[in-house]
Amino acid sequence: MFYMSFSFMGKHGGSHPEENKSRTSNLAIEDASVPKIMVFPVSMHIGAPAKPVVEVGDTVKAGQLIAEAGGFVSANIYASVSGEVIALEKRPIVGGEADCIIVKNDYNYTKAEPLVEPGNSQNMSKDDILGTVRKAGIAGMGGATFPTSVKLSPPPGMTVDSLIINGAECEPYSTSDHRVMVEHPDEIVKGINLSRKLFPLLKHIYIGIEDNKPDAIKALEKASADYDDISVRPLKTMYPRGSEKNLIKSLTGREVPPGGLPAAVRCVVLNTSTIRSCYRACEFGEPLIERVVSVSGTPIKNPKNLRVKIGTPMDSLIEDCGGFIEVPGKILGGGPFMGKTVSDLGVPIIKGTTAITVLTPEEANIGDEQDCIMCAECIHVCPVSLQPILISDAFERGNIEKAKELGAMDCIECGNCSFICPSKIPLLENIRSAKAAIKHQEAK
Ligand code: SF4
Ligand code: SF4
Repeated sequence: MFYMSFSFMGKHGGSHPEENKSRTSNLAIEDASVPKIMVFPVSMHIGAPAKPVVEVGDTVKAGQLIAEAGGFVSANIYASVSGEVIALEKRPIVGGEADCIIVKNDYNYTKAEPLVEPGNSQNMSKDDILGTVRKAGIAGMGGATFPTSVKLSPPPGMTVDSLIINGAECEPYSTSDHRVMVEHPDEIVKGINLSRKLFPLLKHIYIGIEDNKPDAIKALEKASADYDDISVRPLKTMYPRGSEKNLIKSLTGREVPPGGLPAAVRCVVLNTSTIRSCYRACEFGEPLIERVVSVSGTPIKNPKNLRVKIGTPMDSLIEDCGGFIEVPGKILGGGPFMGKTVSDLGVPIIKGTTAITVLTPEEANIGDEQDCIMCAECIHVCPVSLQPILISDAFERGNIEKAKELGAMDCIECGNCSFICPSKIPLLENIRSAKAAIKHQEAK
């Protein structure tokens, strides 16, 4: 049980949960089955939902645009199979419900035209690269799902001198990025080289990888050996090492101000799978229609790392892994800390789904919520020095202003506080709700 060995890291918070990666970290990526019915939410990124450009009865090809970005901060959505659009309807997704485009797979895999002429990425201009990344619908694949073309275009007046590739993958159980680094290091380095054109003042390129992945460190050192300015940096394993602010501090010594963007300290941070997808979009004209997902946890019979077509319902992947050998206590889209509980296995894999993690009831620490015993553990483990219990309390009392004053918007949603809480108070859930309420208020 990973929560049993949870230990507190000191002044800046963080923890050492048991990693539980050994069942999948050495397993090569396999192709997942592709089911008959595929589900494409129009909201699988931060920002405005995409707008459907297909209707019920339309025939679509694999790689065809089915919903176009609904604004600057939004992303295109493509069909990952060929077939027929059979419905446009609301469906459950990880973390809620969304309008979805339902496609009945014809299993012909008829392909749409590539986004750009393949084999020409080296000749692309800055605008070509940015335009292709935007067209491909790429959004942060480490789970954040922020549209990548927006991230690659820092606000006016902000220059970038450091590109950071996030290979930390600090969530227990998750091994999808690990396998991408081991199996596709060359494509990650080619993605880095393309991005050089975007940042003319670039001085430093770091690939940060936790030291519990020595094979990934070795693979990327080898792939980047010809480039003196690319530095592969092993990082001490801890949770949440992969948070942007933590990574920037560890690699550059710079501190992103509260509420600030990485660009405020001249940095851009991209996940390893995201930079690889940018390369594949520019080199092969591929939109983002598949990703690697690790499926693991004690109740899973045969955990795997699967190459999954986006839109695949989770139950199909559980089946690929032999199903459950014991009754699950909790199923998460993502890892045990930041992942969101899934109550319907029909929810689809989206661009930001790194993992499906299944815990036993005991591992999930399921039980009745008790009163706060004021142990202050949640405060000690918070990596951004918040007071989670006070924010949660303010939210529960309906005092959104107070939650804001206490820094709710600086919460990086790492989940450490919820995990450590002996009273099983849903701190992260409350803080996420407080953040949503603050955003709603600010949008008025
Ligand atoms: S979820 Fe937010 S409040 Fe809780 S420990 Fe992480 S950063 Fe701090
Ligand atoms: S960890 Fe739980 S019980 Fe302890 S102070 Fe925080 S909310 Fe209260």
